[in-house]
Amino acid sequence: MAQIQRKKISKKEERSARRIGDNFGGRGAIEPIKRKEPQTPQKRVVELPEIVSVKDFADKTGLPVAQVITTLMKNGVLATINQTIDYETASIIGDELSIEVIPEKAVSKTSREDISHSADQDTQKLVSRPPVVTVMGHVDHGKTTLLDNIRKSKVAESESGGITQHISAYQVVLDKTKNKDLQNRTITFLDTPGHAAFSTMREHGTTITDIVVLIVAANDGVMPQTTEVIEKSKANHVPIIVAINKVDLPDADIMRTKQQLSEHGLVPEEWGGSTVMVEISAKQGRGIDDLLEMILLQADLMDLKADPDSGAVGVIIESHMEKGHGALALALIENGTVKIGDPVAIGSSYGRVRVLENYTGRPIKEAGPSFPVRIAGLKSLPGFGDRLISFTSEKEAKDAALRSERMQSTLRIATAKKVQHDFAESGKTIELNIIIKSDVVGSLEAIKKLLSEVHSQEASIKIISEGVGPVSESDATLAQATGSKVLAFRVPTLMAAKKIAEKEGIKIQRFDVIYELVDSAKADLSALLPPEIIEEEVGNIKILAIFRDDKKAFVAGGLVESGKVAVGDEIKVFQNNNEEYRDKVHSLRHGKSETKECVSGTECGLGLNPGANVAVGDRATIFRTVKKLRKIE
Ligand code: GDP
Repeated sequence: MAQIQRKKISKKEERSARRIGDNFGGRGAIEPIKRKEPQTPQKRVVELPEIVSVKDFADKTGLPVAQVITTLMKNGVLATINQTIDYETASIIGDELSIEVIPEKAVSKTSREDISHSADQDTQKLVSRPPVVTVMGHVDHGKTTLLDNIRKSKVAESESGGITQHISAYQVVLDKTKNKDLQNRTITFLDTPGHAAFSTMREHGTTITDIVVLIVAANDGVMPQTTEVIEKSKANHVPIIVAINKVDLPDADIMRTKQQLSEHGLVPEEWGGSTVMVEISAKQGRGIDDLLEMILLQADLMDLKADPDSGAVGVIIESHMEKGHGALALALIENGTVKIGDPVAIGSSYGRVRVLENYTGRPIKEAGPSFPVRIAGLKSLPGFGDRLISFTSEKEAKDAALRSERMQSTLRIATAKKVQHDFAESGKTIELNIIIKSDVVGSLEAIKKLLSEVHSQEASIKIISEGVGPVSESDATLAQATGSKVLAFRVPTLMAAKKIAEKEGIKIQRFDVIYELVDSAKADLSALLPPEIIEEEVGNIKILAIFRDDKKAFVAGGLVESGKVAVGDEIKVFQNNNEEYRDKVHSLRHGKSETKECVSGTECGLGLNPGANVAVGDRATIFRTVKKLRKIE
């Protein structure tokens, strides 16, 4: 959001201001002293909400839009007519425009916590819900194998048949256990990409997850990504259960692995610590039931509960456009129950739930807490991490979505400004501003990761904005405001965005292959680098005589000891190995005749600038200056 920082008033200043106020008739004054008010024009009072668009600000204050924009610009805020400014900024520029800004009485609710569903605890009927679990660990430690094994052996036959491609969330039922309390209990697994390229996703993973299963290969031990997971989970207060994997291998060293984990604060229960560690072989399917049991016992300790009877609140973990369905979102329901026909708002998107499917694509009528559910019927594509909230009417859902849209657009501009600020602080001078739009979150994360690696010491790529879905009008406007290029990965550009792009000369490029997108960004960034100036040595000359040295000309005689010299070449002259003089070869003579070039072993007359600092016995290097385009690899 466009913002101006208001100068902070210290407590001392405030106190002294209050004291002055008291002396002039405020509280505590014995006798009001009548003073003549300064002759300032009467300020008009305008009520404004927390966030207001430039246009609304102009309408409400009755000032021309251009004047508002100019005043914002004077205060370092670049905002177009449709962009929003916060209340603080509005009041600062209000001061300048002789308008007194006061907060609107009926402040609209903006935070998602305010959007209902915070029903009284008393009225809530809390019941146990399945734990949401994410498996994480160092690459190659067996995460995929474990999840595949769990899916194959634990997802009911009818369900697993439906899973044809990668699915980000699914549920398993513990069927084989001696512990009756755990029999047939459900666990929800989130399968976020495990590769380093998806560290952002992993971060999200830890925040929407109840329990992290940290997989550590016993033959490899604790590795960098293992430590990263431990740190992130700790930071997010998510309990860890360790799965020590590959115990079937001859070089598996369980003791050493436990030792290393203890050094990172995960001390096994048998050593007096509190971390549950289960030895497994994901490949052979050993220990997996034990692991599932441990997960459920941990869940019981955490007393995970939700109210299935309330309106649904969830989070989007995947979204894409699908032929015949339109926008399709995979949501994890956190509380309440979502039903077919429910009006929902998801981030800035909304709609009525037209299709509800379980994670395998089987139609269902409703989904309760901890259920991953696919939803169709949305007006636009929501993004990863967007909140889902169900409402009683579509109008309410639409209003909530619009509020969220406004907040997002405010946030986008604020983020863009912060990125620009941070970049300026970092001292880098060359930047390529980019807006990325992508088909799915996975590819967006991969593109971002790869682009973050494209930089040199003085140049790098700034991602001004990113998102899933087609290139929209607001992307084009943002591109124009920030001088960005738009890179669209497997998404179209909406007509309105195309029009702005054509009018404003904004470059929108579409790609279907990630590496082509990255290469194009590399080439664009390389093109911004100043070329490297290289002196290419072409010959060496020993100065043997000075033939002419007057006001009009300087001619030195020399022997080309190596290489060659041509008219137009540059020359560096060294006296006692120190470079003393630089010039250009204006003319060349060989014997009595003019020539264009003299080669090694020949003598030549070098025509330099009059007054050249060259003496007999000097050595000279002949060179050519070439500009070499630089490339970021
Ligand atoms: P990820 O990168 O963590 O998803 O690791 P993968 O599941 O792809 O596993 C990496 C390699 O380790 C693969 O070749 C697996 O077959 C192998 N692997 C995984 N689990 C086990 C195990 O329990 N025992 C053995 N011997 N190999 C395993």
